[in-house]
Formats: sequence, structure tokens, C-alpha cells
Amino acid sequence: MWGPGWSSCLLFILVLCLSELVTVGLLIFSHGFLLTRQVVPFSSTCHDFKLKNNIQDGSASADNDAGCWMPPAFNRSVILIVDALRYDFTIYNHSLKDEDALPYQNKMPVFDSMLRSHARQSLLVPFVADAPTTTMQRLKGLTTGSLPTFIDASHNFASEEITEDNIIDQLVRNGKQITVLGDDTWASLFPHRFTRSHLFPSFDVMDLHTVDRGVKKHLAEELGKGEWKVLIAHFLGVDHCGHRYGPTHPEMEAKLKEMNQVIENVVNMIERDTLLLVLGDHGMTPTGDHGGDSSYEVTSALFLYSPALALFPHTTPALQSMAQVDLVPTLALALGVPVPYSSLGKVLEHILVTTDVTEDEGDARQIQALALNVKQVQRYLDAYKDRGNIYPEDLWQKLKSLNKTVSETKLSPREQKRIFTEYLVLAKVMCQEIWVKFNVAEILSGLFLMFTALLLLLVFIICPSTLLTEKISVVRGVILLTLIVNLLFVFSSYFTLTFLSCVASCLIVAWLIKHRQLYAKTKFVLSAPHYIRLLLMAVLFLGSFSNSYVVMENHVVAFILLSLVSVEAITAYMSQHNKGAGGKGFKFSMNPGIVSCWLAMCMMLVCVRCSTWFWKCREEQYWCIPGQVHIPLTGLPPDAHNVRYFTSLPSLGLLIWLPRRWLLTCGNLNGTRFGVLLTRYTPLACGVLVAAYWALQAATAVYNIGIKEQVMLPRLLFLASIIHLTAVFALPLLIYELHPSSKATVHCNSPTALIPQLYRRLKEKYNGQNMQSANIPVVYGLATGVSAPLVAVVITVLMVVVVVAGDGLTGALLLLFLSAAASLLVQAVSAWRTSHNVEAISEPGLQRVCSWFVLSLHGFYTTGHQPTFPSLHWGAAFVGVRVGEGGSGVGWNMNTAASAFLVGLNTYSSHLVFGLALPLVLLAPLALGVIAPKLRPTRFEGDETRHGEFTLVEKPDQTRSSLLSLSLSYILLHAAKVFFSAMAAFILRRHLMVWKIFAPHFIFEAVGFLVTCASVIIGLGFTLRVLGVLTSWSEQLLRRS
Ligand SMILES: [Zn+2]
Ligand SMILES: [Zn+2]
Repeated sequence: MWGPGWSSCLLFILVLCLSELVTVGLLIFSHGFLLTRQVVPFSSTCHDFKLKNNIQDGSASADNDAGCWMPPAFNRSVILIVDALRYDFTIYNHSLKDEDALPYQNKMPVFDSMLRSHARQSLLVPFVADAPTTTMQRLKGLTTGSLPTFIDASHNFASEEITEDNIIDQLVRNGKQITVLGDDTWASLFPHRFTRSHLFPSFDVMDLHTVDRGVKKHLAEELGKGEWKVLIAHFLGVDHCGHRYGPTHPEMEAKLKEMNQVIENVVNMIERDTLLLVLGDHGMTPTGDHGGDSSYEVTSALFLYSPALALFPHTTPALQSMAQVDLVPTLALALGVPVPYSSLGKVLEHILVTTDVTEDEGDARQIQALALNVKQVQRYLDAYKDRGNIYPEDLWQKLKSLNKTVSETKLSPREQKRIFTEYLVLAKVMCQEIWVKFNVAEILSGLFLMFTALLLLLVFIICPSTLLTEKISVVRGVILLTLIVNLLFVFSSYFTLTFLSCVASCLIVAWLIKHRQLYAKTKFVLSAPHYIRLLLMAVLFLGSFSNSYVVMENHVVAFILLSLVSVEAITAYMSQHNKGAGGKGFKFSMNPGIVSCWLAMCMMLVCVRCSTWFWKCREEQYWCIPGQVHIPLTGLPPDAHNVRYFTSLPSLGLLIWLPRRWLLTCGNLNGTRFGVLLTRYTPLACGVLVAAYWALQAATAVYNIGIKEQVMLPRLLFLASIIHLTAVFALPLLIYELHPSSKATVHCNSPTALIPQLYRRLKEKYNGQNMQSANIPVVYGLATGVSAPLVAVVITVLMVVVVVAGDGLTGALLLLFLSAAASLLVQAVSAWRTSHNVEAISEPGLQRVCSWFVLSLHGFYTTGHQPTFPSLHWGAAFVGVRVGEGGSGVGWNMNTAASAFLVGLNTYSSHLVFGLALPLVLLAPLALGVIAPKLRPTRFEGDETRHGEFTLVEKPDQTRSSLLSLSLSYILLHAAKVFFSAMAAFILRRHLMVWKIFAPHFIFEAVGFLVTCASVIIGLGFTLRVLGVLTSWSEQLLRRS
């Protein structure tokens, strides 16, 4: 009843179920930890708080509009958004000589000259954003006045309509027409709100001019028109220039000068009743990126000007900076519309005073605005509280008492202003605090569920023989358990997640107790190397609790990796079987196995050492000097192009040549099977495409050719790799049968790759002793028949990773490849030398998985990543993706999804490749034992060892249990890492550095774990398929003869 196919299927499902259980726990933890803000679905209306004060209305009488909550100070407003306008771009330093100025310094003199010539009509302040500093989040903040929550960072690639009350809707509702020019994000955030719009695709950061030229073309014309009350023009050139070249490139100088000219023109055209705002949505880092919370990124500029403005001369120095959320109430009250319901900003009351009111009237107007602002914020806080949210008691009481003071006592205007301001500032602080509040019960139950799932994993690792027929009920039990746990969450609308996850954990514990006979008799025999490995793993896991460890994790991981491999090499050298006949003293023989082991060890040292060139600096690593490898070819000065190009090319060549050489040596690239042909030529073709793509990029940077041509090459590469992967999955046999009569010559170096005796053995197995050796075909590549398709898959995936990672990081991928190969060699030698028989060699166990696990972590850092959001490689989003295709409908969504996928692929390339290639840990000793027989000790001289990986086909049960324990051990190690970083993020949730260090660390670990699970399962499924196909092939071969 239980055929071999079914057993493989069961193994696959078991791994799937166990990793799914850990994932459920992880998701519940994340749900409690990464809370989102609850949206209050109310909108402010004109009649909410109409003040009865008799303020004389002077300025707005032009269109006879008394305004909504208070009389408007201005009739119209022009808002120029210069994306990524950092504050220091706008200040003018007179002491700086022109020739000393950096490309971004002193290039916008318009602000300085306006501040000098119109001191009472203009104002320039640092305009401080809340992180995450991505354009979409900023536009959300700038229009709704609400604070972003941590999780918001993930929504950048999926623009969605803003439904929460916002300034745009308020303006439209109150009959003020809006015209918008520039960035098309506006259309996706506010569809159908604008009377007129001229929008241009914003996604292509390589394109510096399309949006700006479009805006400039329409701006003068629109300014002359009378219909709009608010005109928004959003320029993207500065931001894109930063992404492409960085702020210190001559292009930035040209771009800022261009913006300066635009602003000068607009200033000259501004009418008396119009308020001009020039603002940046965020800044940029010294490399031109943004997204994080460094002061470079959060400090943009705001410039205000109106001929009617009458700023008190003393206000300007008092204003140190302004928060971006403050723009919403300021603009709303200045234009006479209600402040959006959920806005938490504080009105900039100074700009409500115009030249046509006296100083007393101006004062009264400021107090009125602040009072309205306080009422609006208070109403929002009450509504938010009514929806079941809790505020910190001390702050809430303080806010109440401030409110009381104002209403009960008669205060001087100055006092009133001070108290209102204090209230608004405090309210914002309080909200910032609650939106990083945690659901402790949910977090704990999630952690508990993860922990029990880890225990379950451990049980299956220590008794992998559960797949045997007599224990199959255990496996079915686990599958049932997983189903029940998942079904529990159907009731999430009736019970809390906390309750359901506790029930789930209890079910797992009950299962563990019921099946305790499975693991009760297991005895652990630990030797010294085991203790060292355990200690190193403990350092790795417990390190998550220390902020300096997390900051330095790239160094620690490299150290642990080298330590693990050294332990392995030393174990191989000092193995029991090296001892003399009496068991005393070592026989210091330098046989080929030991020598190659040490050589591999040295290569690994060099590779890990060199990989530090490719590490990215964290903000906290103040000593770290960023290398040039992360700057794409286009960002390098032209004279550096050739150097880069000719260092990346040899790496690319080696990355293709080395695995290809290996496959040739093993005899897997012979014959004319479709899969073989594709494996022979696809990597070469991909390599040529990658090289051509780089060349084209370099040429683009110099000659400024269009972007259209650039997407073709990566797309061809993606297509070729998809075809190859599909073909290898469908036809995974990379072997070649040569009939003895044939005289064909075969490219194969190693005579051991021919296994006639294997065939004989097969015959014995299936047909009894009836042997006829006349017609034995020669089979090439059978000894590596299982690993070869996997190697082919890995090469192709690596080619995709190379093109997504960018030219600078090819060297890093080569180093990683060499390290992995060296580690496999050391492990293989150590496995041969420490095992008693062939069975033991094909049982990898936890210890051999450790170094593979640490390698995958090391790979994350080596490919230039850090667990922080600013260090994501956004450039990867544009490889082979172009915006504007298929308009703004489905095509756009497809492209954003593709972009998000590419960034993910870039970030987790190491997790993906090591997960896929995991079965190599099991296969490497068997393959090396055949291809390089000198590496194995002479006592393994049986027939069996010469069968290489075909041994696995011969012993399906043992193979399945080895694969099970291999996959589960690897998943367990990654799961443990996530578990400890989740615990760290939770326990240290009040730590100063939680949002800067621990929470991002946890999120990166968690996503890495999910990628790992998926890739391990895919790699496992693929290996099982290869084994299945090999089995049926060998049966067929017998039947034919
Ligand atoms: Zn932006
Ligand atoms: Zn940007």
C-alpha cells in the first residue's frame, strides 16, 4: 500500500507541515508585535466648531468666503514639492567660495535672497519627516497629518487610495479646485479628486528629466489660469538624481540650479492673495538613498512666501524646525477649510497673520487657530479611545489637566498660546508612544507556539526513522495536528488570536506527551567537537539580545563560520581511524584527504577575509568606510568603468566555469538529452547576457541612451532561466548511456564515472543471478546523477541573482560560491574519516548542517546587506522592469509586484540559494568519494562506495530519513534564530534602540526564515523528484535488456 512514491510524498508533506507550524507562531507574534494604527473613519465638516468670536475678516473678502472654521488668510496656494529636497540644499553659505562648494551646496540662492529682501513675507525652516521616509508614506503624512506606524514601510510598492480624512478631500468638499502636476503617485493616492492634472510615471529612477520637463511645460500655463485654488507641482528630478548619481555628482548641481530657476519664476508670478510653499518630502543619505530615519533622510526643507504675509520679526528665529504633519492644519486653516479628522499636526499659527490686520487682531487670530486645533485633536483622541484603545495614563491625565486650565482660568493671550502649544506637542508624543505599543498576550502566545513547534521539529530530527512503514501513523498524526491547528484560526472572529494560539500550543504539547516513547529512549553521546558547535550556536542565538552584537553581526557570523569549519577540519585530522593500531598516538600521515582538507580550509579563510570588501556599513558602524562595490556602474565616474567591468567579468566567468567544469568532470554534460543540452548552454548564454547588460549600462551612463533597450537583456535572461529550470524539473536525468558497440567519444576526465558494475548489480537485484555481461551499456554521470541536476539549478539561479545584485557584487557571489565549495569539501573529508561505514556517511545530522546554516547567514552580509531598511538595494527593482507599459492599470501593478519580488530576491539571495542547495550537504561526500577517490580512506574500498550517489537510489528508506533529518535540522536552526531574535525584540521592547536595531533585525530574520523554508521545501521536492526519476529509469533499463 505504501509505495516509494507515497513515502516521498509523505516526507515532503511532513517537512511542509512542521515548518508551517513554526510559521503560524511567527505570524501571531508579528501580529502582536507590529501593531498598526486603527483608522478612525470620520471626516471633519464645516459645522464642527464654528467659533462665534468676532474676528474681523479682512483678507478673504475677495471671493466673499467667510471660511469654514475660521476666516481664511489666503485665497489660493501654490505648493511646489521638490522630492528629496534636503534642508542643506536650500541654505546659502556666503563664506563658501564657489570653487569649494560641493555640487549640492549654494546652488539654490533664491531662498536666501528672498529671506533678505522679504524678511516679513518669507520663511525657511527644516521640515522634519517621520520615518519611514519613502515618498508615498510622506505624501500620506503630508495630506492626512497622521503619524506612520512601523508596518507602513511595507506598503511603498503598492500605492493605494487614501480613504482616511485628508486635506485634499477637505479642499474638494469645500469647493476648492485642485490642479496637480508631476509625480503620478498623486493619482493613485487620490483618484478622481483633481480638476486638472498632468501626471508622469514616477517609478523609473534612472529617468531624471521626464517628470520635471512635463511639470515645467505646464506650470506657467496653469499659474495663469484662474480656476484652481490649490496648485500642486511635484518635481522628481532631484530625488532620481540622488538615486542614480548621489548628491555629490555634477548632475545634482545642474538639477538644483534648474529647480532654483523654476522657484524664481514662480515667486515672480505669485499674486497677493496666494501662499507659496516649497517643500521636500524627505532628504537623502550621502549616497542619495532614503527610507530610513537618519537625520539626512528626515530633514527636508520648507519655504513659505506670500506678498500678503506679515510675519512678526521675532518669530523666525524662534522656529527651530517644523514637523511635516504640521503642514495639514496650517494649510487647512490658512485656506479656510476644516482640519482633517485624524490630523495630529500643530498649526503654524504665525503664517495666518496677513498685512491687512493689526497686531492685536493677528494675535487673536493665532489663538483662535490654536484653540480650534486643540479641539480637533482632542476630538480625535476621544474617538480613538472610544474604539477600545488605551493611552498611557500619565500623559492622558496631563492632557486633561491642560485642557481644564484653559477652560477654567482666565489666561493672558501669551499663556493661552503656550498651553495650546504644549497640549498639541504632548498629544503627538502620546500617539507616537501608543502606535508602537504591543499586544503582550498575543506576543507571548505566539512565542509559546513557536517554541512548542520547535520541540516538535526536534523530535523528528532525533528520530528520523518515523517515515518507516510501521511508524507511518506518527506522521499522519502530525499532518492531522497541523490541519487542526490551521482550522482553529477559522474561528479568529469568535475568539482572540491569543486564545487560539494557546489552544494550538496545548495540542502540540499533548501530541508530544502522547508520543513520548518516540524520543524517551534517545541517548545523546556528545564529543568535544559537539560541545564546541553547541557553544558557537549558542553565541549566535543569544547574541540577538545585545545591540552591539546585532550591529556587529557580520563580523561575528564570519568568525563563527571559520570556527565551525576549523572544528570540522581538526576533527577530520584527529579522527579515530587516524590512530595507530593500538589506539594510542596519532599517525601523522599527510594523505591527500588531509592535505586537500587543509587547502580548502585556507581557501575558506581567504574567501571570508575577502568578503569583508563587500559588506555594507550600518549607520551605527561609524568606523566603517563604505566600499564602491554598492554603487552601480552607472554611478561610478566614467574612468572607473573599465576597472569595474574587467574585475566583474572574470568573477562572472569563474562563477559559470567552475560548476560547469565540475559537471563535465562528472560526465553529466554528455549526450543529447534535452535537459543536458540546456544545462550545457543556458549558463553560458546567461553569462553573455549579463555581460552585455553591464556593457549597455556603462554605455548608457556615458552616452545617455534611452532606458527602453536596457530591459530587454534581463528579461531574456529571466526567460532563459525559467525555461531551463522547467526543463530540468521535467527531465532531471543528466546522464548518458553509451552502448558498448558505440564508438562515440565522450568528454569525461574521470574513468570512475563509468559504472558498468553498477549495472551488473542492478541486474542482480532485480533478476536474480542471471548475468549476461555482453550487453552492458556504459552510463556516464550516474555517480553524480542526483546532485548534477541540483548543481544545474543552482548555476541558473545564481545567474539570475548576479543580474539582480548588480555588477559590483559578482565578486561577492564568487567568494560565497568558493566558500560553500570549500566547506563541502572539508565536510566530505571529515565525514569519510570519522564514519565507520557508508550508511553513516549519508546521515548528515545536525553538526554538518551547522556550517551550511552559518554560511547562509554569512551570505546575507557578503551580498551587501544589513538587517536595516535603508540598506535594502532598491536599484534591484528596476532590473528588467519598466514603468508606463500598459498605462496605469494592470500593467502598473504587474510591474510593482515584479519590482517588489526583485528587491526581495536581491535581499534574500543567499537564503534562497543555500536552501535550494541544501541536499548537497548529504550528496557531497558520496560524489567526492567517486570523483576524487584519493580523498577517502582506503578502508572504504567496496563496490558500494563506487556507486556514488546512486547508493541513495538503492536504499530509498534510509535516504528518505536522511533527507528528512537534513531538511528539518536546517529549518530548526533558522527557526531558532528567528525565535531568539523575536524574544530579543519583545524583551527589549522598551530599549532605546528597539526600532532601530532589534525590530528590523527580527523582521529581516523572519522574512529570511520564510524564504529559507520555501527554498528548502523546493530543493527537497526537486531532489525527491530526481530520485524518483532515477529509480524508474534504472528499472526501465533492466526491463529493456
Ligand atoms: Zn520622495
Ligand atoms: Zn526616492
